Amino acid sequence: MHILAIGGTDSSGGAGLTRDTAMAASLGCGLSPVVTAVTAQTNANVQEIHPVPAKIIEAQLLAALDPASPKPKAIKIGMIGSPAAADLLCKHLPADMPVILDPVLKSTSGKKLMTKETLTPLLQRVSLLTPNLPESHLLSGSSASGERLDHRPLAEALLSLGPKAVLIKGGHDHGESCIDHLWVGTDHHQFSAPRLPHSKRGTGCSLATAIACSLAQGASLVEACRRAKTDVHKWLCS
Ligand code: PLP
Repeated sequence: MHILAIGGTDSSGGAGLTRDTAMAASLGCGLSPVVTAVTAQTNANVQEIHPVPAKIIEAQLLAALDPASPKPKAIKIGMIGSPAAADLLCKHLPADMPVILDPVLKSTSGKKLMTKETLTPLLQRVSLLTPNLPESHLLSGSSASGERLDHRPLAEALLSLGPKAVLIKGGHDHGESCIDHLWVGTDHHQFSAPRLPHSKRGTGCSLATAIACSLAQGASLVEACRRAKTDVHKWLCS
């Protein structure tokens, strides 16, 4: 099985396309990387971001989708790089492939990686959006938080932006369990794992990639989210 991963490089190896490739390999899935931005970063900070010119992104994308390349069965998008890159993704993404978009607005170290405006045009074409709680609030414009956070209005606001489904990740929440909430319309599913005392960089990249791999391997969306939660938990424990 094979997926297409569209995103940025991370010179520290902790996140972005390197992490996507490692997760896909651990699940027995091949990956074609389309580089949208080159970053210089460490685990402590993002030092430089260099967006790849749109025509080079387009050339990579068309080559990865060419029949002479391995055929991807799902697409994972992380850092988009520029509004021009978002426009050409809208133009070229095949209509028949599931698209998982991890809206990486900021790195863990706090650097802005992309804006809401950059990813908005793509949202109509997205099968699953995977924001963490801060990203959910930024994208929906909601400021609700805390232990009694009602996920339904948050999910409704995110779904109104265009994606077919949304997975609101609970990593930034509190409590003994880390619970992710999947909403497909009004259908709601929860995936839980014990909250660990530590985190790793690239957790969001890993989850979205693991979902794309399971979809490519034929799983339903609900099953892919369930499996990916377990896959990422295992990696976090390793
Ligand atoms: N750099 C790149 C290129 C990324 O794609 C991402 C996340 O997707 C990050 C940095 C941020 O990763 P983290 O939040 O784990 O630092």
